[in-house]
Amino acid sequence: MSQQPVMTLAQALALADTVTPAPAAAHEALSVLRAEFIKFREFARDCVEDIADGGDLDGPSLRAFAVKNGLLLPVMMPAPCGETCACLEYFSEDEFPVECLHRTALLTGKPEDPRETSEA
Ligand SMILES: [Zn+2]
Repeated sequence: MSQQPVMTLAQALALADTVTPAPAAAHEALSVLRAEFIKFREFARDCVEDIADGGDLDGPSLRAFAVKNGLLLPVMMPAPCGETCACLEYFSEDEFPVECLHRTALLTGKPEDPRETSEA
């Protein structure tokens, strides 16, 4: 097996930009991929920076970084939002409305359900 230089995703995206003329759909796909890459890198950077200086990355910090970088979306829910949602497990009926952290399309890779954010 030959040793090939490893190309980073950022380099691959930059290289893809040099292919001209890029079809509009490919250009749009690259823009989306680039934006998602930047968000995931920022999330990773936040986590690593937290521990690099001897920090102890905890759940609240992870949640804050996930929200900051668009992986989780805080949504004020007037009622439990689903059988699998943590809000159902951690809050009683009389505590609603509560803020629930919904997984975004960036995290799941699936299109976002507009019903999930319309009650915010
Ligand atoms: Zn919920």
